[in-house]
Amino acid sequence: MPFSENIRRLQPSATLAVSALAKQLTAQGKDIIDLSAGEPDFDTPSWIAEAGVDAIRKGQTRYTPAAGTPKLRKAIAAELSARWGREVDWQAVVVSNGAKHSLFNACFCLFGPGDEVLVDSPYWTSYPEMVTLSRAEPVFVTGSEDRGFRVTPEDLERAATPRTRGLLFSSPNNPTGSVYSREELESMARWAKERGIWLISDEIYRPIYFGNDGPAPSVLDLPADAVGSFVLVDGVSKAFAMTGWRIGFTLSPPDLAKKMEAFQSHTTSNPSTPAQEAAWAAYTHREEAEAEIRRMREAFRRRKELVTRLFDEKLPGFSYVKPEGAFYLFFRVDGLFGGENRKGSEGVCTWFLEKAGVALVPGSAFGDDRYVRLSFATSDALLEEAVERMARAVESS
Ligand code: PMP
Ligand code: GLU
Repeated sequence: MPFSENIRRLQPSATLAVSALAKQLTAQGKDIIDLSAGEPDFDTPSWIAEAGVDAIRKGQTRYTPAAGTPKLRKAIAAELSARWGREVDWQAVVVSNGAKHSLFNACFCLFGPGDEVLVDSPYWTSYPEMVTLSRAEPVFVTGSEDRGFRVTPEDLERAATPRTRGLLFSSPNNPTGSVYSREELESMARWAKERGIWLISDEIYRPIYFGNDGPAPSVLDLPADAVGSFVLVDGVSKAFAMTGWRIGFTLSPPDLAKKMEAFQSHTTSNPSTPAQEAAWAAYTHREEAEAEIRRMREAFRRRKELVTRLFDEKLPGFSYVKPEGAFYLFFRVDGLFGGENRKGSEGVCTWFLEKAGVALVPGSAFGDDRYVRLSFATSDALLEEAVERMARAVESS
C-alpha cells in the first residue's frame, strides 16, 4: 500500500541517525568517539532537575493547557520583556515539546502549498523537512564561503520570488557556528519587512557565543522599526543542558500563537508537565541560571580554542568555518574525495568511522556535501584523541 503524499519526500534526521549508529557501535564494544551528537555533554543543573522531580512528587503529573502553564508562559514573557524593553503579552508565548516542535508548528501554521520559504544554507537538517511537511517549497540561499556563508539582503533578493513567504535561519548557525552581527541581522530583518515575509529566527544557540561575554545578537535587540512579522524560537535544550526534557517556545504575534496553540491541542497537547516545572525554575532563577550559562559558555569557548588549534596543527590541509557560536566545527573534506569508499561527505564520514572510530555528520545533511560537521560538545581529552586518530587515518590514506 502506498504512503501518503505528505511524507513522500521525508527522510530520517541524519543527525539523530548518526548518533544512534555511534551508540549502537559502542554498545557492540567498538571504540567510538561520538562527535556527531549536537547536544551539551553536561548534566542538567541539579537545582533545575530537582524542580522537575519535585513536581512529580507533588503530583504535578496531569495535563496542562496545550500551550503550556500560564505560570511558565508568564515567566518566559517576563524574561523576553526585560530583554526587549517592551511588554510581551504572555499569550504570545507558546511552549512546545522542544524548539524542533516549535519550529514545525510555526512552519505548518504559516506555510502551505504554493509557498516558498527561504532557508539560510548550510541549514540545520530538519528545516527543509519541516517546510516540505507543510507542503511548501524550501529555497536555499547561501552566502559566500569566505564570510562564513552568512547571507546578505542581495543574496536573499536573488532567491526571492512573488511566492516567497518566509525566511528561516539560525544564528549562531548549526552547522557552521557562524553568527550574524547586529547590523547584519538588522539588514536581513529590514529586507524581510520590506518584502512582507515572515522572519523565523531560531535562537536556540544564542547563549553559546564567543564574540564577547554575553549572548549572540537577537531579533529582540533590533530597533522596533527594523522588524516586521517574526517568530522567535528558543528553548532550554542548549542553554540549560536539557535536551531530553523537551521544552521549547515561540514568541509570535498573538493571533499566530492562538493558531499554534490550537494546532498543538490537536496533535501533541501540552509539553510534559514536570518538564515545564523544571523550565519554570530555570527561567525564574536568573542569577543561578546566568552562572550556569556562563560556566557552559566558557567550557565551549575553551573547546573551540582547543579543537581549532588541534586542526591547525594536526590537520592543516582541512579548512573550516571559524566558529563564533554554538559547538560545531564545519570543515571541508572534498580534498579527501576519491576511490571507491570516499565519495562525498557520507563516504568520508563512513571512512572516518571505520578508520578512526570517530563519528561525524556528513555535510550533505546540512546542504553542503563538501563539508563534515564535528560537535565539540565533549571532553577535551576525547577531542584530542579524536583529532589524533583522524590525523593518523589521513596520513595513512
Ligand atoms: N534548532 C537548531 C538549530 C538545533 O540545532 C536544534 C537541536 N536539536 C533545535 C533547533 C531543536 O532543539 P530542541 O528540539 O532540543 O529544543
Ligand atoms: N540539534 C542537534 C543536532 O543538530 C540534535 C539532533 C537533532 O535534533 O537534530 O545534532
